[in-house]
Amino acid sequence: MTQRPVCLITGGSAGIGAACARLAAPDYDLVLNYRASRSDAEAVQKDVEAAGAKCVIVQGDVANPDDIQTIFKAADDSFGRIDVLINNAGIVADAAPLTQIDHARLTRMMNVNVIGAILVAKEAVIRMQAQGDGGAIINLSSAAARLGSGNQYLDYAASKGAIDTFTKGLSDEVAPDNIRVMSVRPGIILTDIHGKGGQPDRAERLGPMVPMKRAGTAEEVAEAILWLASAKASYITGSALDVTGGR
Ligand code: NAP
Repeated sequence: MTQRPVCLITGGSAGIGAACARLAAPDYDLVLNYRASRSDAEAVQKDVEAAGAKCVIVQGDVANPDDIQTIFKAADDSFGRIDVLINNAGIVADAAPLTQIDHARLTRMMNVNVIGAILVAKEAVIRMQAQGDGGAIINLSSAAARLGSGNQYLDYAASKGAIDTFTKGLSDEVAPDNIRVMSVRPGIILTDIHGKGGQPDRAERLGPMVPMKRAGTAEEVAEAILWLASAKASYITGSALDVTGGR
C-alpha cells in the first residue's frame, strides 16, 4: 500500500492547528504537537482517526530545542517522512505599550514565535531534502506583521514580521529542492488565543470593524493553509496570504 503523505502540525491541540488537523485528516497522516493539554490533543486525535488518518500526538514546547528534537523523533519513528509542515504554534501576551514590555516577555515571545518556528522549519527541511521529493512549509504569520499592533502587542507583531521575512528567505533557499515555503497571515480569528492574551472578547469586539464586518473562523484559515499545502498551489512559494476579511 502506498504511504499517505505526512503532515506535522505544531500547536495542533487547539484553534487553527486543530482545524488544520481535522481538515487534513482525509488526505494526510498526522503528527500533532501540543504544549500543555494532552486531553485537547487526544480529542483532535480521536476525530482525525475517525476520518481515516493515522495520528501520533507528541508533547513539546517549541521554545525548547530538546523538545523540537522529541517532536521530530516521534515523526521519524511513526512515519519516517514529512511532506507538509504547518508551523503554527504561537503566543500573544497582554495588551501593553512598549514601556511596559520587559525582557522576560520579549524573550518568551521571540523564543516561541521566531526561534522555535525557525528551528522547527530547519528540522523539516533536513528531512524533506533527504527525502528528495519536495514538500511544503506553511508558517503562521499574522496581519499584525503589516499593522504593527502599536498599543496592543508590538512585540507579537514584530515576531510575525520576522516570520514573513524568514518565509521569503527560506523559500528562495529551498526552491531548487521543490520545497515550497509560504506564510499565512490570519486577521481576527475566533480562537482561544485572545483569552490567553487577556482579551477573551477581542474577536467579537473587533469583528464588526473588519471590512467584511465579522471575525473569521479557524476553519476558514485552515482551508487556505491546506490549499497552499496541496498540489493545487504547486507554483506558489515565498508568498504571504492574508486571510483577514479585508483587514
Ligand atoms: P490558540 O488557539 O491559542 O492555539 C495555539 C496552539 O499552539 C495551541 O495548541 C497551543 O497549545 C500551542 N502552543 C502555544 N505555545 C506553544 C509552544 N511553545 N509550543 C508548542 N505549542 C504551543 O491559537 P490560534 O489562534 O489557533 O493561533 C495559531 C497561530 O495563528 C499562532 O501562530 C498565532 O499567532 C496565529 N494567528 C492567530 C490569529 C487569531 O486571531 N487567532 C491571528 C493571527 C495569527 P497550549 O494551549 O497548550 O499552549
